Amino acid sequence: MSQTVVNTKKARALEILTNVRPSPTVESELSADEKIEKIKKHFSEIMKTLGLDLEDDSLKETPKRIAKMYVNEIFSGLDSANFPKITVIENKMEYDQMVCIQDIEIMSMCEHHFQPIDGFATIAYIPGKKVIGLSKLNRIAEFFSKRPQVQERLTKQIADCLQFILETEDVAVHINAKHYCMIARGIQDTHSTTTTSDLRGAFKARPETRTEFLKQCRTRFNT
Ligand SMILES: [Zn+2]
Repeated sequence: MSQTVVNTKKARALEILTNVRPSPTVESELSADEKIEKIKKHFSEIMKTLGLDLEDDSLKETPKRIAKMYVNEIFSGLDSANFPKITVIENKMEYDQMVCIQDIEIMSMCEHHFQPIDGFATIAYIPGKKVIGLSKLNRIAEFFSKRPQVQERLTKQIADCLQFILETEDVAVHINAKHYCMIARGIQDTHSTTTTSDLRGAFKARPETRTEFLKQCRTRFNT
């Protein structure tokens, strides 16, 4: 990729992200590699404090593994450089009904306990002037999932992002998920799931559009 292309992509990602409600973050000057080094050191301390032997050949690499996993994988959505390339096209076909994608896998991390949030999203919009590549809806959901999250914010960030990119208020996001902080600890309830939704524009105002969308929002957990 040429430098101009990289800069344009970066500028567009930043423009989109300033129109999405923020996660509670502070500026960091550290590069990805510097973050990995630092987290590795701190995670070693956590393991040592727990009484684990870091000389053990099975545990030795764990701090590095955790650090790389945090920065490059499960928290990669904290870095705007990882925002997906989004292509929208003019709605020349004049499609004016609901476009809906079901069963989008959501794998996020609860910011209170750093335990997985595992679920499915249903995302819909009614095109105005713009139409988006379908897999981009999955990519957007994935990007905001890869942050420490609460399900309510995740739902709204995806909706904010789509509303801005698609230049329409007619967007809807529904997430149904299991929270491992409720399964592995605390209440230890393996069955309950949490549902959040953000219905905007016609999805909020028109009962038949709302019903049409919510009918698509079956979840794999409940069926
Ligand atoms: Zn939690």
